[in-house]
Amino acid sequence: MRTQVAIIGGGIGGLMAAYRLKKNDPSIEVTIIERGYELEKRHCPAGHNKACVHCKICSITGGYAGAGAFSDGKFNLGTAYGGSMGEELGERVAMKYINGVDDVLASFSEDYPPLYRSSEELKLKCLQNNLRLLDMNVRHLGTDKNFKTMQKIIEYLGNAKVNMLSGTECVSVDKTEGGYALKVETGKNSQEIFTEKLIVATGRSGASFVSALCEKFGVTMNANSVDIGVRVEMKDIIWREFSEKIYEPKILYRTKTFEDRTRMFCFNQGGLVSAENNNGIITANGHSFAEPEKKTENCNFAILSSIHFKGNFNKPTEYAQNIARNMNFAGDGNIIVQRFGDLIRGRRTNDHRLGANTVIPTLRAFPGDLSIVLPYRALTNIIETIYALDKVAPGTANDDTLLYGCENKYYSIRPEHNGSFEIMENVYLIGDGSGITRGLSQSGAMGLFVADKICGKDTEA
Ligand SMILES: Cc1cc2nc3c(=O)[nH]c(=O)nc-3n(C[C@H](O)[C@H](O)[C@H](O)COP(=O)(O)OP(=O)(O)OC[C@H]3O[C@@H](n4cnc5c(N)ncnc54)[C@H](O)[C@@H]3O)c2cc1C
Repeated sequence: MRTQVAIIGGGIGGLMAAYRLKKNDPSIEVTIIERGYELEKRHCPAGHNKACVHCKICSITGGYAGAGAFSDGKFNLGTAYGGSMGEELGERVAMKYINGVDDVLASFSEDYPPLYRSSEELKLKCLQNNLRLLDMNVRHLGTDKNFKTMQKIIEYLGNAKVNMLSGTECVSVDKTEGGYALKVETGKNSQEIFTEKLIVATGRSGASFVSALCEKFGVTMNANSVDIGVRVEMKDIIWREFSEKIYEPKILYRTKTFEDRTRMFCFNQGGLVSAENNNGIITANGHSFAEPEKKTENCNFAILSSIHFKGNFNKPTEYAQNIARNMNFAGDGNIIVQRFGDLIRGRRTNDHRLGANTVIPTLRAFPGDLSIVLPYRALTNIIETIYALDKVAPGTANDDTLLYGCENKYYSIRPEHNGSFEIMENVYLIGDGSGITRGLSQSGAMGLFVADKICGKDTEA
């Protein structure tokens, strides 16, 4: 098979790239190679409040619409977090493409929701307590609207004759005359796809694919940092002042003992804690629905402690994965859940104490002790952050607050590029797999940007 542009990965980065390529030039041949399922066929067998059953391809993180398919659909329309596109492209160009994603979504979405804007009053309250509330406008689609919008974009791409392969994994890339030969496998069958240009949009779950590609072609990779933490769940009412005013509080803190930076992020009002399976390692996450009838009485968010590696150590992802693997080992193959009151008293949570808890867990996890796995420094940072957040949202540090471990964020491999995300001739690396983005808006924005570059458009205009 031959194509002009092959895109590996059908997440938001890949979809936005395909969309813009076709908008720019309807005759261009585009093929998307996605190892997961079509959007409608993505089902997590665990469902609500059941343990992960370790599927070979996780339907939560992989398949058309990518890791964001069942997410809360929070589109952060700025550069303060969610990636470093602002640093890479400059604020003006980055914002042009981030707003471009918002425009594309709006064009496919009925009843497009209004923006949540930042609040001066809450910013001040945080500052007075040594906390920094990050300032950003947020468009909250909610899980269902986000899903439907992705469905419509995929339908548009089908009508625009984008060749969309599913259940098809790209396993290797070779340089050929005039382009690249991709070896792809569909079940037991394999074939080659020849492409002139390649967009790699494999997300976090494709980290090993990207490192193998970079090693093979001698692309320099910069290891930077990794975030280790927990998902925190409590009664929704505790954070309602924030969620009603700004929808999603994202807060930074500098811890007292180590002066490390921690962050509270990915807040879900009335939400559910979820498990995700990244290549056999189960970690925590969270989401929520926009519809009032689907809300729980809890809210959840992540608290992450950043670890920066210096010197010769360049395997931060593997380091964090080993912690998560150990957590699964101690948690009988699952995530561990612990009451905050048990953690600070140095005892494990058991079924009895969990059963009597006022916060009812929305994910079935293994009751246990996070402190037997989490590094002392990360755990100290997390505990201090919980006490700091308690000052602006009293009740956060209640005994019955639940902590699920672990939740890690990996963005260690950051291959060098030419300023336009081209890592070698005609190969572009975009989205979360590039180490540059950490969210839907910026990943999608990178897709729009490289599509414009490929079509020779003026990205500065
Ligand atoms: C539960 C959850 C909730 C989230 N909520 C939000 C939110 O509300 N707001 C926000 O901004 N971000 C959120 N995120 C993060 C967001 O989903 C990601 O930042 C975003 O999906 C990154 O997009 P991407 O296209 O770079 O990668 P992905 O969405 O990860 O897509 C990559 C795709 O590539 C495929 N792939 C990987 N390797 C190969 C290969 N070798 N061959 C073929 N296909 C391959 C994968 O199957 C996957 O479908 C959430 C993530 C999760 C898991």
